[in-house]
Amino acid sequence: MRAVVTGGAGFLGSHLCERLLDDGLEVVALDSFLTGSPENLAHLVGRDGFKLVKTDITEYVHVPGPVDQVLHFASPASPIDYLQLPIETLKVGSAGTLHALGLAKEKGARFLLASTSETYGDPQVHPQPETYWGHVNPVGPRGVYDEAKRYAEALTMAYRRTHGVDTAIVRIFNTHGPRMRPNDGRAIPAFASQALAGDPITVAGDGSQTRSIIYVDDLVEGIMRLLRSDLEGPVNIGNPHEVSVLHLAEEVRRLVGSDSEIVFVPRPVDDPSVRQPDIALARRALGWEPTVGFEDGLQRTISWFREALQR
Ligand code: NAD
Repeated sequence: MRAVVTGGAGFLGSHLCERLLDDGLEVVALDSFLTGSPENLAHLVGRDGFKLVKTDITEYVHVPGPVDQVLHFASPASPIDYLQLPIETLKVGSAGTLHALGLAKEKGARFLLASTSETYGDPQVHPQPETYWGHVNPVGPRGVYDEAKRYAEALTMAYRRTHGVDTAIVRIFNTHGPRMRPNDGRAIPAFASQALAGDPITVAGDGSQTRSIIYVDDLVEGIMRLLRSDLEGPVNIGNPHEVSVLHLAEEVRRLVGSDSEIVFVPRPVDDPSVRQPDIALARRALGWEPTVGFEDGLQRTISWFREALQR
């Protein structure tokens, strides 16, 4: 079996490459290094069956030889990244997805799209089941990411219906773990690096908005189960344990053992006020649910940041 992972040098892509190799597959990682880095894959380079190819998938995707699975993860994903790279984000969600689907069609491979809970926008249904169509502002600054993913979902379904490609869509909720960048603007990297440095911890708004965070190992397991099923999705993969952003900041500070003060900064435009996955479908159809507890996951991510910042 041979898998292609677009965005393989990113945070999630690198964990997926590792898991696929551990499971005995050959893996081809395609990445332009726009927001990821070959360093994330340094430990896999040289391993039997692994190949990393620098490719901008908005231009073309070509992989010689057989391919059984295409995991399409290339896209700027943190708010800082997609706000700085709006056109690149729209291009990779549209042209990049078109090319990745073309590869799956050509090779007769199963295609898995990394979609996002951001397709639900600032939701008016809580928690969010897959049947909810979302509440997205297409012309706001975040629209570049949310709409790129909504388009990518529509394109994926069109390839399934029109060309019979075997597709799956996963809607990923906020994930954390090793190999996140300290300065990528997401809450946990920001809180952890601020707390570790003894700097003020910046909480957006009054911190009452909620998030539900999942540890990367749980996410990867859910994605593997979806990949190996015949489910088309979309399927939510996330941890329903919901906390306020202020509580998250306080917990990170406590686990770091820091006395950083918490300061409040303006909330980004269209920042969702609540976020919690309904995972009934993943539980029922994939027999999956998260196993890493909130505090345990945070401890593991903080340990990684502690080491990364020392390096
Ligand atoms: P990341 O930025 O670490 O990884 C994305 C990778 O895609 C990077 O290595 C980047 O260089 C690559 N890339 C971007 N444009 C490309 C292009 N045109 N051609 C080739 N490679 C390109 O982000 P991540 O957190 O690992 O997210 C991976 C995927 O998962 C994204 O599609 C994201 O939307 C989705 N997702 C992530 C989360 C999360 O919490 N991390 C949540 C929901 C969805």
